[in-house]
Amino acid sequence: MRLQGMTHTVEILEASPVTHNVRRLRVEKPDGYRFTPGQATLVGIDRDGWREERHPFTFTSLNEWDDLEFTIKIYPDHDGLTARIGELAAGDRLILEDPWGTINYKGPGTFIAGGAGVTPFIAILRARNAEGGLAGHRLIFANKTERDIILREEFEAMPGLECVWVVTDDDSAPEHMQGFVDRDFLKRHVEDNTQNFYVCGPDDMVDDIKSILTEMGAEPDALTFEE
Ligand SMILES: Cc1cc2nc3c(=O)[nH]c(=O)nc-3n(C[C@H](O)[C@H](O)[C@H](O)COP(=O)(O)OP(=O)(O)OC[C@H]3O[C@@H](n4cnc5c(N)ncnc54)[C@H](O)[C@@H]3O)c2cc1C
Repeated sequence: MRLQGMTHTVEILEASPVTHNVRRLRVEKPDGYRFTPGQATLVGIDRDGWREERHPFTFTSLNEWDDLEFTIKIYPDHDGLTARIGELAAGDRLILEDPWGTINYKGPGTFIAGGAGVTPFIAILRARNAEGGLAGHRLIFANKTERDIILREEFEAMPGLECVWVVTDDDSAPEHMQGFVDRDFLKRHVEDNTQNFYVCGPDDMVDDIKSILTEMGAEPDALTFEE
């Protein structure tokens, strides 16, 4: 069992859409609160009946920012935490615990994400972009449809970052984007198996990609979001 750390009650400063089902929450940052890009914390809602229901979400802000930011995929049809988060507005309050590690940045390499699994990479790539540039960094981002792609314009504008968009279920997307991040795809895209690989997304996707990369001689860092 994980011991519960300090909790912080913070106000939502702004809630805005990122895609049709992803929201950005800008929230107050507790004094002295710091994290490493890629880290997450448990988040609850400061409302009767919800305070103890805390789920992990990743900081997508940088320490240099005045506020914290979360980028959250909402599942509106399911009576869970994110459906409630989808209804929150500026002035509502969240409960945050202390930051803890998820994916560790070890240097340039290939980042493979599915859906909201891109959130640790938002933080890591924003931080690298601000600090030293993104030469040698590649983002392979798989989604069901083109409109699901989170922060596409921001990623495409990051100098040095190579972006590969993959859509699995969208006939209207350009043909070169359509496909799956499967064995064939990885064989075509991985020239160097000694580079760093970071994988984050739904559990079946992460399991498959991890085992294919391992078979190819790579040592991927992987994080499961259990979507
Ligand atoms: C370390 C870590 C960091 C994370 N960071 C982020 C982040 O930054 N952003 C983010 O968006 N997510 C993140 N996640 C995932 C996030 O924690 C979950 O998406 C969230 O907890 C879901 O909570 P929920 O109560 O809304 O849904 P839950 O009750 O947990 O259920 C969500 C699941 O229900 C399924 N579902 C949807 N509709 C229905 C339905 N009608 N009936 C049955 N099942 C349904 C969904 O496919 C999904 O698998 C992270 C996960 C981990 C482990």
